[in-house]
Amino acid sequence: MSITTRIDLLKNRRTKIVATIGPASADESTLSRLIHAGVNIFRLNMSHGSQQQHTEAFDNIRRVADTIGRPVGVLADLCGPKIRTGKFPPGGITLRAGDDVLVTTRNVPGSEGVIHSQYAALAADVKPGDRILLADGLFELAVQTVAAEDVHCRVIQGGQLTDNKGINLPGVDVSAPSMTEKDIEDARFARELGVDYIALSFVRRAADIEALRNLLGTDPAAPRIIAKIEKPEALFNAEEILAATDAIMIARGDLGVELPPEEVPVAQAELVRLARTQGKPVIVATQMLESMISNSRPTRAEVTDVAHAVNSGVDAIMLSGETAVGAFPVEAVDIMDRVARQTEAHQWREGVYGKLPGIDVRPLPVWNVIANATAHMSKDLMVHGVMVISRSGMSAATVSAARPAAPIVAITNEPYVLRRMALFWGVIPLLQDEAGRANPNELARRVARELNLAEQGEYVLLVRGFHDEADLNSPSITVITV
Ligand code: PEP
Repeated sequence: MSITTRIDLLKNRRTKIVATIGPASADESTLSRLIHAGVNIFRLNMSHGSQQQHTEAFDNIRRVADTIGRPVGVLADLCGPKIRTGKFPPGGITLRAGDDVLVTTRNVPGSEGVIHSQYAALAADVKPGDRILLADGLFELAVQTVAAEDVHCRVIQGGQLTDNKGINLPGVDVSAPSMTEKDIEDARFARELGVDYIALSFVRRAADIEALRNLLGTDPAAPRIIAKIEKPEALFNAEEILAATDAIMIARGDLGVELPPEEVPVAQAELVRLARTQGKPVIVATQMLESMISNSRPTRAEVTDVAHAVNSGVDAIMLSGETAVGAFPVEAVDIMDRVARQTEAHQWREGVYGKLPGIDVRPLPVWNVIANATAHMSKDLMVHGVMVISRSGMSAATVSAARPAAPIVAITNEPYVLRRMALFWGVIPLLQDEAGRANPNELARRVARELNLAEQGEYVLLVRGFHDEADLNSPSITVITV
């Protein structure tokens, strides 16, 4: 571990950074610079690239992270039932407001006035009056009539439409399953590869998560699940989805197409609150530093968006095109890191740490009580470290949930738990072979001393004992004198 001084630990950035890998970043040298700049989790986007490219990127990440000695997680993002247009002649076609256009699932090539889509149930799912949005919502069609495989539309908002652009059907109950054949294949591939997280796109209900969990199996090392919230149905079912998933991602790209844009900030605020209430990690994603795809400096509004997400207490903030295809991937991570640190310093001065959003039920869930008590005790005893011994990552996630001011040093003997914990707010994962068997108090005391988190006679806290099986669950907080 490269962090060894108390100052390093106290200054550790609490909010984690997720960076998407692509042609701009998959090589070892860029990955190394990205890790040094502060990336905690890399995202492999299954919507692009081949399995061979993902395997190469994955191997490079593991190799570089091992060389540097940082716990870095990998997240595979399944593309989900994303509906797309087919191909067009070179240059695409022009959609003019007021013109008629046919969207068809018949096997015909795209041409002026004709858009092909492979989504077979399109004509069955839509009805006259529905809206069809194209190319991330840039263009809009209104459905006029539907016949067999043909959907006749009027262009409302036109432009130049090119190959394979996304089709969104806001407000339409899309019948496609949440996991396509390709997703099932990609999920198996990602599990075999050994990724730490799998993100499921276009989640609508808890059953979607359960289907993926069944596919991934019960091995404790199986990847954890991140539910991407990008459909209005998911907002409606957010509580049941949160109960079923391990974490959520607020996927503002598609969410902002499915919802009017002005509803996205409110949805983001509500999702962050709900996720934190349930103690589930939450990632805010998409267009955070979008202009840095081509500019070396972000806009003031983008910086403010990053700061706002950090201020709201999210676990992680994500870069997409900025690091996958952008001209300034390392600079984008560097800016994100600086904005997060500056905002966190402000939060520290304001004394906002150590508070979970309130829950109005009694008795409170045990995790909530332990998380709050740990945060309060760490403040009252002015400890410089909360030590956690975590077998699955659960104890670390629980302590992280109350956002204690003191750094959380989460000790495990399992490399996959180490990487999993890289996503959690404020958690500094640490691998110790003896974490599974040694005297936990002695281990916590020794690590605290080695990391210089307490002088002789000072206190640190030790939290451990969470388990997802009720009869094995015996959480405790211990005050340890060093
Ligand atoms: C999004 O829509 O914001 C998102 C993160 O998903 P994707 O990049 O897969 O479209």
